[in-house]
Amino acid sequence: MIHKQAVAGRPAPTDFPRIRRDALHTLQMNLGYLCNLACTHCHVEAGPKRTEMMDRETMDTALEFIQAQGIRNLDVTGGSPEMHPRFREFMGRAKALGVHLMDRCNPTIIEEPGYAWVPQFLAEHQVEVIASLPCYSADNVDAQRGKGVFDASVAALRKLNTLGYGQPGSGLTLNLVYNPVSPTLPPPQDTLEADYKRFLADKFGIVFDQLFTIANMPIKRYAHMLLREKRMGEYMALLRAAHRGENLPGVMCRGLISVDYQGYVYDCDFNQMLELPLGGDTAVYLRDLIDADFAGRAIAVGDHCYGCTAGQGSSCGGALN
Ligand code: SF4
Ligand code: SF4
Repeated sequence: MIHKQAVAGRPAPTDFPRIRRDALHTLQMNLGYLCNLACTHCHVEAGPKRTEMMDRETMDTALEFIQAQGIRNLDVTGGSPEMHPRFREFMGRAKALGVHLMDRCNPTIIEEPGYAWVPQFLAEHQVEVIASLPCYSADNVDAQRGKGVFDASVAALRKLNTLGYGQPGSGLTLNLVYNPVSPTLPPPQDTLEADYKRFLADKFGIVFDQLFTIANMPIKRYAHMLLREKRMGEYMALLRAAHRGENLPGVMCRGLISVDYQGYVYDCDFNQMLELPLGGDTAVYLRDLIDADFAGRAIAVGDHCYGCTAGQGSSCGGALN
């Protein structure tokens, strides 16, 4: 039952198809749960009062892992990863290893006191920015993320544009992330991207590269909201009914691992939040996987995985088809 798993973080039986890993190319790291926002859909349950933070030793291990495994992409998330006191040092060291850097950035952090350095730092290190903007309507964004978040996001995106982000030929990639406000599947990514581009350019002069549409996962804060509104059954039925087997080869867990702030490893960020260890076995540290062979390993799946395969599919890089 997804309800139990979602709320209590316990693994549960599922009829989701068994899947296995391909080659590992991406290390996704959650630097901690501290965030300047506390969004209603946040599957991390991040917020301004969270104190969990990755320690230096785990960051050192990650850099060792990147070298040993020939990792191509380092994808940092949180919380707001930029709020980690060692964010700049860690990203700078990773850049020196030649890895492609990705920052899952809540753009409002740029508008917070003490964070004016963020856009310049990201540009100097050619970090791909994946910025959350769940809607181009101010009302919807503020309802999901908090009052004033839309205006702050617009101001921040403009600053990124000024430095070249989203501008053709700049080499600075700015992707936006959309997730539905209500418990529905995201609309077709191409159509919505065209709408976002037109609206943001016309109204605010904002440009960006791609829009990633991501389904809300029925876990953590979003699961609590669904249970409170007695809509969990409806949402799970929607995800199951929309399951498409052709999305299975593209699910993100095939090529990435997700590391929590304590250095434990999971098949993806969602499994991390459910405390479902890599492969579904016992908890394992990144330190113990430096020389591991990942291809062919079983992936720990649960009912929540239907959130990745429903409709056009959903991954940290948006729709799958
Ligand atoms: S900005 Fe992102 S990490 Fe922060 S509370 Fe919102 S969804 Fe969670
Ligand atoms: S939820 Fe995680 S483990 Fe399940 S299919 Fe999606 S990425 Fe893979």
